[in-house]
Amino acid sequence: MTAELAPEAAQHPFVKQPAAQQFVEQQIVGQPELEQVEVVIIGGGPAGLSAALNLVRARRHVLLVDGNRPRNAATFYSHGFITRDGVPPLELRRLAREELDAYPNYRYQRTMVTAIERTETGFTIMLKGPGIGQSEIHAATIVIASGVAEVMPALPTLRAFYGTSIHSCIECSGWDEQDKPIAVIGETDDLAERATLVSQFSDDIIVFTNGIGQISEPDAAALAARGILIDHRPLADVVGDTTGLTGVVLTTGEIVPRTAAFMRPHYRLMQEYAASLGLAVGADGFLVVDADGRTSAPGVYAAGDSASPGPRQLIVAAGQGARVASALNRDLIGLPQQRP
Ligand SMILES: Cc1cc2nc3c(=O)[nH]c(=O)nc-3n(C[C@H](O)[C@H](O)[C@H](O)COP(=O)(O)OP(=O)(O)OC[C@H]3O[C@@H](n4cnc5c(N)ncnc54)[C@H](O)[C@@H]3O)c2cc1C
Repeated sequence: MTAELAPEAAQHPFVKQPAAQQFVEQQIVGQPELEQVEVVIIGGGPAGLSAALNLVRARRHVLLVDGNRPRNAATFYSHGFITRDGVPPLELRRLAREELDAYPNYRYQRTMVTAIERTETGFTIMLKGPGIGQSEIHAATIVIASGVAEVMPALPTLRAFYGTSIHSCIECSGWDEQDKPIAVIGETDDLAERATLVSQFSDDIIVFTNGIGQISEPDAAALAARGILIDHRPLADVVGDTTGLTGVVLTTGEIVPRTAAFMRPHYRLMQEYAASLGLAVGADGFLVVDADGRTSAPGVYAAGDSASPGPRQLIVAAGQGARVASALNRDLIGLPQQRP
């Protein structure tokens, strides 16, 4: 039976292109000649690794390019990924790459993508990194899985405790800080919601807005009803010792004792390299994607933190990677975008 092409799929520039379908013996960056793959995945976190595994198993020829700087590198242990609760961040990646190494249609390059240009048959991807200098590769399609950078409140010592007793992900680390005196620190307008989530883990919570974060009167009343305090005074820093965080320092010099904190960062997309593609970015600052991870540009997909509304967690990113792999494979075959 022949599937009828949806109009969108028929317009897809890579549908049924022999170059994309017939991947000859390839030579990747650092090797002399042919540099053509069906898919280049940018970013080797859980989103990119999961996309890679599902795409190679769909017999796609994949190059995974990764700077290998996990967003969660600040923490010793990651939680919430089934069968891997408590795994060190780099170990989770190592295990995934080890699985991928078993597939002959997979290549890995530890380097950075610096730019992308659209061509008639796909994309040229520029790479630059230690040991390989500058190079380029051609791909029919791209998966953006390069995550986000975090912009934190400007407290000089905050990073020293980030990932150990100061966290951004409540779902990931709430369990480990239960029943402690907790600070919720941030400069955004969702601090009331964050504090309410944290109240699942402790009865001793103070929200520090640094005089910037907004909490409406009804929200303040709801927090008070839960026994959550709000402090609007300006912050100077955080303080701690070898045991971890011990307090939040106000500009007055006063130290408010706290042994754990949840900090609300702003997020910045890590995809300056894709500027020439003109990808649509939503009001929330993340890439606009459809339900299957297609961006606004044909042939460009996104998964993980850079695309996700909702919880930014390892297993969510991995799930999105698998979803994107399925959509990309269907698009290359030429199937309609909508699944039955
Ligand atoms: C401190 C901390 C602790 C966390 N703890 C947990 C936890 O316990 N459990 C949990 O589920 N989640 C946790 N998270 C969230 C989790 O780390 C992210 O949701 C997850 O890593 C997102 O995966 P990703 O694949 O989208 O991106 P990332 O894991 O951030 O991977 C992106 C990759 O892209 C690479 N990259 C970026 N730009 C380029 C480029 N130009 N060229 C090539 N490569 C590039 C980076 O080097 C990186 O390797 C934590 C986050 C933080 C900050």
